[in-house]
Amino acid sequence: MEVPFYRDTWAEINLDAIEANVVNMRQLLPVDTMVMAVVKANGYGHGAEEVAETALEAGAKWLGVALLDEAVRLRVSGIEAPILVLGWTRPEDVHIAAKYNISITVFQQEWVREASKCYKSQHPVFFHLKFDTGMGRLGVRDYSEAKGLIGEMKSDPRFIIEGAFTHFATADEDNQTYFNEQYSRFKEGLSWLKELGINPNLIHCGNSAASLKHPENMFNLVRFGIAMYGLSPSEEMKPGLPFKLEEAFSFHSRLVHVKSVPPNEGISYGAIYRTEKDEWIGTVPVGYADGWTRSLAKDSTVIVRNNRCPIAGKICMDQFMCRLPYEVPVGEKVTLIGGGPDVKITVDEVAARLGTINYEIPCMISERVPRIYFRSGERLKVRNPLLETNEEI
Ligand SMILES: *Cc1c(COP(=O)(O)O)cnc(C)c1O
Repeated sequence: MEVPFYRDTWAEINLDAIEANVVNMRQLLPVDTMVMAVVKANGYGHGAEEVAETALEAGAKWLGVALLDEAVRLRVSGIEAPILVLGWTRPEDVHIAAKYNISITVFQQEWVREASKCYKSQHPVFFHLKFDTGMGRLGVRDYSEAKGLIGEMKSDPRFIIEGAFTHFATADEDNQTYFNEQYSRFKEGLSWLKELGINPNLIHCGNSAASLKHPENMFNLVRFGIAMYGLSPSEEMKPGLPFKLEEAFSFHSRLVHVKSVPPNEGISYGAIYRTEKDEWIGTVPVGYADGWTRSLAKDSTVIVRNNRCPIAGKICMDQFMCRLPYEVPVGEKVTLIGGGPDVKITVDEVAARLGTINYEIPCMISERVPRIYFRSGERLKVRNPLLETNEEI
């Protein structure tokens, strides 16, 4: 039975868009460069399991997540594709990675010593060695660090270096100077591995931005994140994208109340918004607890019947008001993100209003908002964590 939801607020995830973006990326890459679908943070808010399955069907070979918990979640969902945890894992949790056949990231000699001590099984554990070539976040930075780490790895035959990688800080910028510097440092790092007698099967450095710009130079794997969801890694990259990205995420609700308000009446907390004349005011059952953050109150609009309607007054925890152009019935659809060819609010527009990047927007739409999945134009399934339970509802 389909999971129910009893609120008229939902996000639509167009899995056809995810599929198209993966297929287009694969066509851009040389045949021997594989795609890792990055589905951390619940698939950038879209739903990790559904995005992972779609991406794998479209030809992605790997999945990438930030946390071991996220990887285990995918395994428990029945996903068998190779998974890499891109962030740090606790050394005492290596047995979990082994149990679920999850590859993890390594870059500290001390960590390897500790993990080796804690790990009691004989099953092999697979690692990707990370180089910090200028991101300054995680990774080995110089030859002696790499040598120490490799030495430690070699002392435990259960530990296998399956991959080596790095991450770019500026690949989405027009100016590629820093990117080029990082790229050559990465190649230097790979030469250290060779010197130390290590030859990993998988070499990867490209995020979406680098992979879209330099598909020919991405070794044998790319970590495809934001662009898989149909969003450009940056505004700068938009004019030069090698194929059209298809946005997968949209966000909708329905008016729960509509009224005519005389001039100079206050709307919402603080009564800061004052009606200027007789105005039609609609109440939308979406608030900051849904991720529709209070900062969006200023200069933001939503779409009702192809009209942009300004948000009126402060955004509350569960509701906000908007100014309608004319009377519309209760139950009328409100689009917060998405829309048609005539009037459309993009994820990028919402990000710009908030002074942030598009990555953050679908991530911030909370679990309280059910996700409805569409495939081949048809409604496929619903996720609603609130009511996903074994109890009959
Ligand atoms: C999130 C992440 C990616 C994906 O980056 P996009 O810009 O979304 O393509 C790749 N690699 C690492 C290490 C990441 O953390």
